[in-house]
Amino acid sequence: MSVTTERLAQVELFKDASEALLQNIVEQGEHRTIESGELLLTPEKENHHLYLLLSGTLGLHFDAANTPEIRELEAGVAVGEMSIIDDARPSAYLIAKGKCELLAMHRDQILDTLVGDNPMTRNLLQLMSKVIKLNTKRIINDQAEILELASHANVDGLTGLYNRRWLDNALARLLEQSNDEDKSLAILLLDVDKFKNYNDTQGHQGGDCALIALGDVLKTVVRPYDFATRYGGEEFLVLLPNTDKEEALSIAERVREATERRAIAYPDGRELPSVTVSIGLAVNRPGSTPESLINSADELLYRAKEEGRNRVCS
Ligand code: GH3
Ligand code: MG
Ligand code: MG
Repeated sequence: MSVTTERLAQVELFKDASEALLQNIVEQGEHRTIESGELLLTPEKENHHLYLLLSGTLGLHFDAANTPEIRELEAGVAVGEMSIIDDARPSAYLIAKGKCELLAMHRDQILDTLVGDNPMTRNLLQLMSKVIKLNTKRIINDQAEILELASHANVDGLTGLYNRRWLDNALARLLEQSNDEDKSLAILLLDVDKFKNYNDTQGHQGGDCALIALGDVLKTVVRPYDFATRYGGEEFLVLLPNTDKEEALSIAERVREATERRAIAYPDGRELPSVTVSIGLAVNRPGSTPESLINSADELLYRAKEEGRNRVCS
């Protein structure tokens, strides 16, 4: 794909530039093609070019190439302008999302055009670039901190499962969605059997190891779109979206069996006895609320306990 002065004139950076200048850039610019997944800019490498994206799409990532994309850049944008001004490393990652064609213009060429023989212009640009980079860095750090805090606020420290706070929000949301769309939402309420006795005989640390092991069982046994949460103490709640009673029963039974079979040990390897769980299984009905659904599961859990524990009631 060739680039014309008309095309360049549409790019914000070259707005109102003279035909002679655009012609100069077209002649001196170098065509480059990068393939899907290739890095165009990275903070790990100095950049000396301004790039005009002629075709294709680039993904912008702040923290690392494998973190979520911040923005998508389409043909017509110019990238790398900050690196040109202060000749430093880029502050973000730009990755080709497919084959991309680019016009690469060397910083010396651009700077000559911009600055000419006036060093103050260059100084001013460098000062501005530093301020912008510093502010961008602050924003990125703030965002990372917020994400970090938010993830802690929703995760149980002992088991790594979602916590009660997360559950309260998620259950309300999922239930409303399921009721609106006439879909089935099942919940499993689990309670460790005779756990007071387990703590008394194995110690509180032993009890904690059992809860961590149960957390692992839940993480591995439920399906990718289910949600396992620590409801509180030695009680756990699993959300099973789009799941009818029959399917939920087979998942509950899998959880019960896997728990019974699961070996438990202290961090130093000393073995601990395994535990069992009783499970109450409830499915939404028209008009179900989070409270009514959990109450139903709680009543069924109570029945499972009464009938001898280590079983599922639905
Ligand atoms: P049941 O079969 O009827 O459920 O008997 P249970 O002994 O499990 O019932 P109970 O509710 O009387 O006991 C729950 C115990 O769980 C008491 C509490 O000390 C223990 N527990 C709650 N949270 C934790 C925890 O984070 N770590 C440990 N180690 N124990 C906990
Ligand atoms: Mg309990
Ligand atoms: Mg219990």
